[in-house]
Amino acid sequence: MRPFGYVGAPDLITALDAVAAGARPLGGGTNLVDLMREDVERPETLVDVTALPLAGVDELPGGGLRIGAVVRNSHLAADRLVRSRYPVLAQALLAGASGQLRNMATVGGNLLQRTRCPYFRDHAADCNKREPGSGCAALDGLHRGSAVLGTSEHCIAANPSDMAVALVALDAVVEVQSVRGTRRIPLAELHRPPGDTPHVETVLAPDELITAVELPASPVARNSRYRKVRDRASFAFALVSVAAALEVRDGDVVDVRLALGGVATTPWRAREAERLLLGAPATEETFRRAAAAELAPAVARPQNAFKIEMVQRTVVATLRQLATHGGAA
Ligand SMILES: Cc1cc2nc3c(=O)[nH]c(=O)nc-3n(C[C@H](O)[C@H](O)[C@H](O)COP(=O)(O)OP(=O)(O)OC[C@H]3O[C@@H](n4cnc5c(N)ncnc54)[C@H](O)[C@@H]3O)c2cc1C
Repeated sequence: MRPFGYVGAPDLITALDAVAAGARPLGGGTNLVDLMREDVERPETLVDVTALPLAGVDELPGGGLRIGAVVRNSHLAADRLVRSRYPVLAQALLAGASGQLRNMATVGGNLLQRTRCPYFRDHAADCNKREPGSGCAALDGLHRGSAVLGTSEHCIAANPSDMAVALVALDAVVEVQSVRGTRRIPLAELHRPPGDTPHVETVLAPDELITAVELPASPVARNSRYRKVRDRASFAFALVSVAAALEVRDGDVVDVRLALGGVATTPWRAREAERLLLGAPATEETFRRAAAAELAPAVARPQNAFKIEMVQRTVVATLRQLATHGGAA
C-alpha cells in the first residue's frame, strides 16, 4: 500500500476543512482500504469521519427518520423504528456482507462503495471506470455479474449496494455538506449512469461529505420486503435483488414502491413497473406485465442474459408475497 496521511475528525468543521483540502472521507474502510491495498484508490490523505456526531437514528416530525452518515450498518438494521416502519431497509442491510463487515460499514460508505466488476480491480485489464478511456474488458470478458439496465458501451458495471436499493425505493434524500454549505439530493439522483464518463459515479463534488440520509414518512413501507438472489445463501453480492412495498385495497394496488439491485449500474427505481401497478388488480398477471415492462429496455450480454428473467420472477414473487402474507420476515 502507498503511504498516506490520516486525519481524525472530532467535529464537522475539521472534517469539512480536511475534505476541502483534498482528503478522502474514511468510513468503516471496508471498501476504501481494500481498494487502497490493491492500488486502485490512491488518496494522499484520509479523514476518518466515524467519530463525528452523526451516529444517530432520529425521528423526524411527521413520522420520517433521519439517519446519521456514520451509523453502522448493523446498528441501522437493528433499529426498532427501521424494523417496524421500513422493514425493507432492515432486510436489505442484513442481506449484505457479513456480521463483521456490517459492524464496520457506515451509511455514507455503503452508498459510495465501488463496483465489484472484476476488471475494476485488475490493473492488467481495461476499465474505463479505473482508467478513463482505456476501454471495458467486461463487454467481451467476464460479465455474469454485470448490469443490464442503465449501461453504456463504455461500462456495464453493476452497483453493488443492497442498502441503496432499499433506500431508493423509500424515496430517501441524502444530506450533503461542504465548506460551501448544505444541500439535499434525492437518492435516486445521487448515482450517475456511466454514459461516456463511467469514472464519474455520483453528482457529489470532491469536497462534499454525506452527513445524513432522510427517509420520509411512508405508510406503504410498513408492508415491504427485500429479496436477494445470490450464488450462496450469505456473504455474496446480489445477482438480482428487489426492494418492494405494496398496499392493496379491495384487490387493487393503491400504493407501491419498487427498486432493483444487481441488474443496473445504479440503484434502480422501477418507475415504469410502478406506473403499471398503481390502480391495477393485484394479480400475478399484473405483476408479470409490470416486471416485463421495466425490463423491456434491458441490454444483456451472453453471460448475464439470465438476469432479465431472474429479476422479473423475483419481482413477481416479492409482490405476490407482499399481497398475500405482508412484509414480516
Ligand atoms: C467480503 C465483502 C462482502 C460484501 N458484501 C456486500 C453485500 O453483499 N452487499 C453490500 O451492499 N455490500 C457488501 N459489501 C460492501 C460493504 O457493504 C461496503 O464495503 C461498506 O458498506 C462500505 O462502507 P464503509 O463505511 O466501510 O465505507 P469506506 O470503505 O470507508 O468508504 C467507501 C467510500 O465511501 C466514501 N465515504 C465514506 N463515508 C463517506 C461520507 N460520509 N461522505 C462521503 N464519502 C464517504 C469513501 O471515501 C469511499 O470512497 C461487502 C464487502 C466485502 C469486503
